[in-house]
Amino acid sequence: YAAKREKSGVAVYDARLHERGAAHLTAVTELRHAIDRGELFLHYQPKALANTGAVCGVEALARWQHPTRGLVRPDEFIPIAEENGLIEPLTRYVIDAALRQCRVWQDAGWEVPVSVNVGAACLHHTEFPGDVADLIKRHGLPARLLTLEITESAIISDPDRAVEVLRGLTELGVRLSIDDFGTGYSSISYLRNMRVHEMKLDRSFVTHMCTDAGDSAIVHALVALARNFGLQAVAEGVEDQDTWTALAEAGCDVVQGYFLSEPLPAEEVVSWLGDRAAAHA
Ligand code: C2E
Ligand code: MG
Ligand code: MG
Ligand code: MG
Repeated sequence: YAAKREKSGVAVYDARLHERGAAHLTAVTELRHAIDRGELFLHYQPKALANTGAVCGVEALARWQHPTRGLVRPDEFIPIAEENGLIEPLTRYVIDAALRQCRVWQDAGWEVPVSVNVGAACLHHTEFPGDVADLIKRHGLPARLLTLEITESAIISDPDRAVEVLRGLTELGVRLSIDDFGTGYSSISYLRNMRVHEMKLDRSFVTHMCTDAGDSAIVHALVALARNFGLQAVAEGVEDQDTWTALAEAGCDVVQGYFLSEPLPAEEVVSWLGDRAAAHA
């Protein structure tokens, strides 16, 4: 694809395209190795009940410790995984790692529900629920401790298949969450036919809701929508106390964001939970 065809029918070599292509290929190969060699790891960002501040779970967020480039953010490597058939092994890897960690916390006396972001392509493969079932069984955890965060675009690109896969997941007893709700596609009719448990309001509406009347209107409307469908409303990107308070007043159930905590390395989560429990006692 590095060759560009001109009107004459002669293929003209485009060096710039080729460079991008080569760098891209390297990234794909490296990411494949990173999944195989365990160079990916997870940070965990806590969530709390908006009313009481009680911690109610953590979201696993993937990180890539690259041997020469340092820490790579998911916004860089998740799209590469999505486009090159790597998102399924990556998602399995993340679910496995998150459940293993959840089990470690459970054995240490903390029941910490974990949320995992699921790549869009996973919802188009009918074997995905079976894979998730195997992972849950392997770690000996109740399915209700796992929430899978999916995006609207994953549903809309192949709704029939996605509905079937989501039904399989629901039957396992895992919780389903619609991530980044309200961005991109605004077709909400699927909420009628789909049993999801949670709606995550995108941080692009949340963070500035106290100073932007439009954002505030959107947040209030989405919380009402969640309520009417019996879904738990979770706000991401909560960066200050005023926003937390406004969300609680709007009826939002759960808050997540830098004001509560940044994503933490696994080994810091238990001491964070302990400090917080002590502060609340
Ligand atoms: P997301 O699932 O919507 O996760 C929220 C992102 O917002 C995270 O970025 C988190 O660190 C960041 N964040 C949390 N609180 C705040 C806040 O108060 N203010 C601001 N400005 N940002 C906040 P991160 O970790 O870089 O992840 C970015 C995206 O990459 C995630 O968005 C998710 O879509 C994707 N992602 C991350 N891990 C995975 C994974 O394991 N699998 C898949 N498929 N996607 C993942
Ligand atoms: Mg998420
Ligand atoms: Mg999100
Ligand atoms: Mg988001």
